[in-house]
Amino acid sequence: MLVSNENLGPGVEALPALTSSSALLLDLDGAFSESGIRRRRRTQYRRALSWMVMTRAVSALRRLADLVLAAFLIILLSPFVLVLLAIAHLRGGGIRKQAKLGRWAIPFNRYEFAFSAREGSWSSPLITSLPALFNILHGDMSFIGPRAISPHGPLPHEPTAWKRYDLRPGLLSLWWLRKRANMAYTSEVGLDVEYVETSSLWGDLGIAMRAIPTVFFGGSVSNPTAEVKFLGVRIDNLTMAEASGRIVELTDIDEPVQVCFVNAACFNIAAHDRKYLSTLNQADLILADGIGVRIAGNIFNQKIRENINGTDMLPYLCEALEKSGKSMYLLGGRPGVPEDAAGWIRDRYPFLRLAGLHHGYFKAEEEPRILRQISESRADVLLVALGAPKQDTWIADHKDELGTTVAVGVGGLLDFYSGRVQRAPAWIRELGMEWLYRFLQEPRRMWRRYFVGNAVFLCRVLRVRVAARMFPRRSDGFLS
Ligand code: UDP
Repeated sequence: MLVSNENLGPGVEALPALTSSSALLLDLDGAFSESGIRRRRRTQYRRALSWMVMTRAVSALRRLADLVLAAFLIILLSPFVLVLLAIAHLRGGGIRKQAKLGRWAIPFNRYEFAFSAREGSWSSPLITSLPALFNILHGDMSFIGPRAISPHGPLPHEPTAWKRYDLRPGLLSLWWLRKRANMAYTSEVGLDVEYVETSSLWGDLGIAMRAIPTVFFGGSVSNPTAEVKFLGVRIDNLTMAEASGRIVELTDIDEPVQVCFVNAACFNIAAHDRKYLSTLNQADLILADGIGVRIAGNIFNQKIRENINGTDMLPYLCEALEKSGKSMYLLGGRPGVPEDAAGWIRDRYPFLRLAGLHHGYFKAEEEPRILRQISESRADVLLVALGAPKQDTWIADHKDELGTTVAVGVGGLLDFYSGRVQRAPAWIRELGMEWLYRFLQEPRRMWRRYFVGNAVFLCRVLRVRVAARMFPRRSDGFLS
């Protein structure tokens, strides 16, 4: 039916038909008449010009900041640098040149002190990199930028890899920061591209600030052992990529498999719960989760390679399972939580088969039905999000009824991916402060776990370490 002002109901305002059509005509004329097109082009040109001026200004400002800071540091540190240079020469080292690719993939030589292996303490990245201040002065590098890569190494295959050459490589990079913070990352190129795409002066300032604690407290692990063991718990010392790869490999084994994550709170529970402790030690794969375990590893001189937790691992695992055509079952969380987490997975990994899901608040009499459902779903990987230690002892108790599934205890993972609980931003995780962020979200539930639990854990670690020092012959007994 044609709507006109005559057939409108009582109380309804008359349609401004004429006004709107004349406004539309005026708009069209403004947009497509010769003068309109000229006006539009002028606006577009002005916008493009101001964008170009802005980006040039930011780039010039960044270069100026680099120049001023590099010159200032060279003058300030010159006596120290000269002493280091003399030591390096006396010990047969000097300054080493390393071929790197710079902005627009132009090769340059990066300078650094070449201390020999004997000077382990000298070779901290802060000191060996001092000569690179001249690279910054010369314009080969920035203080902060994508990673400087070698022209001789394998070139990355990622289609976006070229973006890293848009900016000067940095003395500090997101990759360096995550590596020192032992945080998992998708790929080195991924981090470079993330930096280039989100680069800003504020972002650079943030990276510089985050680098300060990382320089002193962080560190990449050289010569790691495949396994570490302290406070009676054995941990597989893997990186995130290795751990998710291992889980996918384990799906091919024709036996039930259990994977556990341990953090400081788990160690505290295991100290009083014999069943949980033996469950952890009987697991096929046990992974280190959180800053507490990492600090303990440093204190016991058994360095943990990477902070691995279920929440960080999910994207890696989904990708690996999707690629290998395997499936996943989600168990745990409040009703509605696994459904929403499944939505997150489906949106990002559409070819990953979700074999089924169930919330984690079931009664004992419902358990046989759920176990049957999981077994019949023939899921390759079962994520059990019931919280520690419940999830791990539940898996151990029902391993044989789950079919040949790799069952992984993942704590609050589904809460994060369902959007119920916010994950700490990457920069907070880089600082090892995710626990504080979690505490602020749920202070009533978390204060005991973090403030009391972390202190108890650290005291126990220090007590055992001191005892092991005092009675070195019995140190194995203290640690295991
Ligand atoms: N949960 C559950 N059933 C239970 C108890 C807990 O499904 O009987 C879920 C709870 O909803 C939450 C998760 O288990 O999603 C535990 O999260 P928390 O962060 O406490 O676990 P953590 O990571 O600390 O082990």
